[in-house]
Amino acid sequence: KISMMDDISKTDAEVFDAIKKEGVRIRDGLELIPSENYASKAVLQALGNFFNCKYSEGYPKKRYYGGNQFVDEVETLAIERAKKAFKVPHANVQPYSGSPANFAVYIATCQPGDTIMGQNLPDGGHLTHGWKASVTGQFYKSILYHVKSDGYLDLKEIRELAEKHKPKLIWVGATAYAREFPFEELGKIADSVGAYLAADIAHISGLVIAGVHKSPVPYAHIVTTTTHKTLRGPRGGIIMVTQKGLHKDPDLAYKIDRAVFPGLQGGPHDNQTAAIAVALGEELKPDFKKYAEQIVKNSKALAKSLMDNGIKLVTNGTDNHMILVDLTPFGKGNGIFIQDALEMANITVNKNTIPAEPSSPFYPSGIRLGTPAITTRGMKEKEMQLIGKWIAEIIMEVKDFELPEDKEERAKYFKKFKESLNQNKKINSIKKDVVVLCRKFPLYPGMGVLR
Ligand code: PLP
Repeated sequence: KISMMDDISKTDAEVFDAIKKEGVRIRDGLELIPSENYASKAVLQALGNFFNCKYSEGYPKKRYYGGNQFVDEVETLAIERAKKAFKVPHANVQPYSGSPANFAVYIATCQPGDTIMGQNLPDGGHLTHGWKASVTGQFYKSILYHVKSDGYLDLKEIRELAEKHKPKLIWVGATAYAREFPFEELGKIADSVGAYLAADIAHISGLVIAGVHKSPVPYAHIVTTTTHKTLRGPRGGIIMVTQKGLHKDPDLAYKIDRAVFPGLQGGPHDNQTAAIAVALGEELKPDFKKYAEQIVKNSKALAKSLMDNGIKLVTNGTDNHMILVDLTPFGKGNGIFIQDALEMANITVNKNTIPAEPSSPFYPSGIRLGTPAITTRGMKEKEMQLIGKWIAEIIMEVKDFELPEDKEERAKYFKKFKESLNQNKKINSIKKDVVVLCRKFPLYPGMGVLR
């Protein structure tokens, strides 16, 4: 047995107490943050063991330290499983997370000061695709593209910007986009200007493996992903080089590996590598396809329920695991009020910018929801209908709260808002219903900490 939970309960009461409380929070709450998921017990066991203690700078069979024969075994398993799952000729499983994976792509393909293109952050893009607050927007000349007023990517603008600025690297992929990515069209645009196309499929990689979302592999040179979202593994990152990438630059795989180590990182997290191997092993089994299909069915059912109950969605629906709610019919900058009100009822979401955001990334006018975690719990369309109704009811309860323009006023206003939440009978009654529903779909049965 490799469970370490019993020991920590005796040796560190304070940390154990926090773990226990987190266990109760997830047991009794609906996790709707689309970038989160519940990894299997096998993944958590692979993470929580003595592979954590090893140093393994380098790659399998080419290490700087001794004693790596078993690390080599798990890293090779993770690499081969990634290659098989995504159908690519090269995979690097060492990035500590999604952001370092993306940074490594810059190091492999660009010089500081080169021009790159990515999706604008308020339009759903990720920080690491050239947003100004990230070093990727400071070390490189970043040209950001947008979505149209209907919420779909503006391919005409992307083509014009690429022709005008001739970027070295173009990103496709996002953190808040509910529609299928047009990989083929982006591939053509990148080819027409001689740019590398990097597809960041952090959010949708599980759907891609299962064939529920189109794969970027035939169209992109490089593919990156996190391993903890729809992939349902440990936190981590993978960078893959496609056949098309090797055709453009036969040294690309070598350049990516050198960019990760020694370019950006030191020793890989071998326990994380072992857990990535376990997650990919689960993904290669037939059950995973059913899971990924159910994520999308649930997402569509939740979107329908929200719209049937009077809530506006960006693009009026979804193709994937994610739903973006547009709260502007009720005001602007109000995402924070809805996020807090839902949290009060044990429903966890995150406030998010929406296209043409009228407020700011700190006080955005939308919320983002997703179904990967509740689908892992076993919930289906029937539960989605109910959850959509609860969310709509809670939005209606607090829709009239609006962010004061005056910054001094805000603290007082938030205090008043919290007090009104505590006394809200509807929200308190939905919370009870949420707990009853969650208990019907237990997480991690048999793990004592959740008792
Ligand atoms: N890329 C995309 C599209 C993401 O959504 C995220 C995470 O939210 C990342 C990269 C970065 O991943 P991490 O938070 O693991 O650094």
